[in-house]
Amino acid sequence: MRPTLNVVRSEDRESSDENNNMVADYNKKALNFIKEVTSKADEIQKQVLSEILTQNANIEYLQRHGLDGCTDRETFKKMIPVVDYENIKPDIDRIANGNTSPILCYEPISEFFTSSATSGGECKLIPMTEDAIQKTLLFFSLLMPVMDQFIPGLDKGKGIKFSFIRKETKTPGGLVARPATISILKSQNLITDRTYDPYANYMTSPKEVILCPDWYQSMYTQLLCGLCHNKQVLHVGATFASGIVYAIKFLKKHWFLLCNDIRKGELDPKITDPSVRETVMKILKPNPILANLVESQCAKGSWEGIIIKLWPNTKYISTIVTGTMSHYSGVLDYYSNCLPLVSPIYVSSDCHFALSLNPLLKPNDISYTFIPTMGYFEFLPVNREDTNFISEPRVSLTNNERLYRYRIGDILLVTGFTNKTPQFSYMCRKNVVLSIDADKTDEVEIQNAVENAANNLLQFDATLTEYTSYADMSSIPGHYVLYWEIDLRGQIPIHPSVIDNCCIVVEESLNSVYKTLRVVDKSIGPLEIKVVESGTFDKLMDYVLSKGASASQYKTPRCVKHASIIKLLNSNAVSNHFSPTCPKWVSYS
Ligand code: AMP
Repeated sequence: MRPTLNVVRSEDRESSDENNNMVADYNKKALNFIKEVTSKADEIQKQVLSEILTQNANIEYLQRHGLDGCTDRETFKKMIPVVDYENIKPDIDRIANGNTSPILCYEPISEFFTSSATSGGECKLIPMTEDAIQKTLLFFSLLMPVMDQFIPGLDKGKGIKFSFIRKETKTPGGLVARPATISILKSQNLITDRTYDPYANYMTSPKEVILCPDWYQSMYTQLLCGLCHNKQVLHVGATFASGIVYAIKFLKKHWFLLCNDIRKGELDPKITDPSVRETVMKILKPNPILANLVESQCAKGSWEGIIIKLWPNTKYISTIVTGTMSHYSGVLDYYSNCLPLVSPIYVSSDCHFALSLNPLLKPNDISYTFIPTMGYFEFLPVNREDTNFISEPRVSLTNNERLYRYRIGDILLVTGFTNKTPQFSYMCRKNVVLSIDADKTDEVEIQNAVENAANNLLQFDATLTEYTSYADMSSIPGHYVLYWEIDLRGQIPIHPSVIDNCCIVVEESLNSVYKTLRVVDKSIGPLEIKVVESGTFDKLMDYVLSKGASASQYKTPRCVKHASIIKLLNSNAVSNHFSPTCPKWVSYS
């Protein structure tokens, strides 16, 4: 029988003295569950697939492909094609337009998750069911027990999790479409009354604050509530690392008002949402000592270690900091005085896949372990021409009760096993490449090259806070352009030749095809870095969000193509720099 994780009902709890035992019991059950499912991965995967296919035997999609009630792996792989979003979009559109017949799933579709990935400029819509949401909640209930093995006592304090909410939309057929993060937050709020979860109240912000659709009011009061609980906070986080960086930027701008509120115990009149005001006023009390602490730290203008200074008991930072987020680890180290960076999960709107079971590893060493009950996973070898990896990366396909052989689009590298379940590190998304000629530069390579070059800024006490890239074909030969936003913390001016030199370091870090085309064939021109004004990447985010992307799942695009985005970035450029020479490259041809 497939292992299940039974949570303890709150009514089972007799007295608070029993609480410690119940926490230990809760953690033990979760860890046993992980051990059991990872030890029987193959068996469980077989069962998961068989259950999905049995329950959905009569749905239109599987019938259309002639699966005919078969539930074995071989027939499934033979009959069902590997698909991208575009292939199933017509079916998804039918559901979104109100067709309630069992097209992809026998269970009614209850809502859509909106993915940060887009299709034709619009967010992808991922159909969800009540059962799938419950499964996701179960996935999240494993997180804190895993952490508790490394940092015990987390149930005794609180955590800040910066969240970014947007208004939900409805499809023409009336189904709610919202980011997974919002749906999960709302669902978590729904179950806390029914289920014993020692970490249920771990967030410093009440739900009214997190779910407030007005960005400014929500972020302001999330910070305010976090500050009011400053001694109880044991961890600070956001789903993606960019969320913490955004929150600190917000603090830099608004600390003065926050201090006023804390000093007087009064909420700034700009916070107008009645339910937010009512809830925050229950937390906010006049506290001049705390106000002085916040003021003394923020007024210095140095943000080094600000997290640990304002929340002195913080033990770790919890946020996804792998993949395109790895670039933020430097700035998070700076803000936290190098607290452990815990990148706990690998998830997507399509499926919540995997956990980091050794969460205190450095971001570069993190491997995630699949939770085999979350879906039926397949891994396809990646076409070697698509990548520059020496080892054998795989691209993952997922199958759950709504998507069949659906290509996630991420490239993963299997690094080992937890019991009998694959562990992997996240490499990149499959199709993000810069290309001028025959060169194909992927996200990881750009990231590494930029990191190498940005090291040159450290001597000026400056850091690269954001970047993106663009293949500029408007001139012949075309060339790579990097847009850099630099934080000049030390106020030491950077001579233009330093950035010119960064261009060369980037080029020298790129692959051999690039260098051959650049040095020998000369079909690629000198790489250009355009330094943009501080705040440009905030404008880019605002722009992307105004087009319908989800704020909580927003990730700075590391490669841009749209003319409107290029225009925005160019109009904020303050200087531009080209490689003064060719990169060093020895050609053997
Ligand atoms: P979304 O569809 O908006 O939920 O975004 C899901 C995508 O975020 C995944 O397909 C990955 O590309 C990225 N992602 C999620 N978790 C991680 C992680 N731990 N490390 C790197 N990238 C991640």
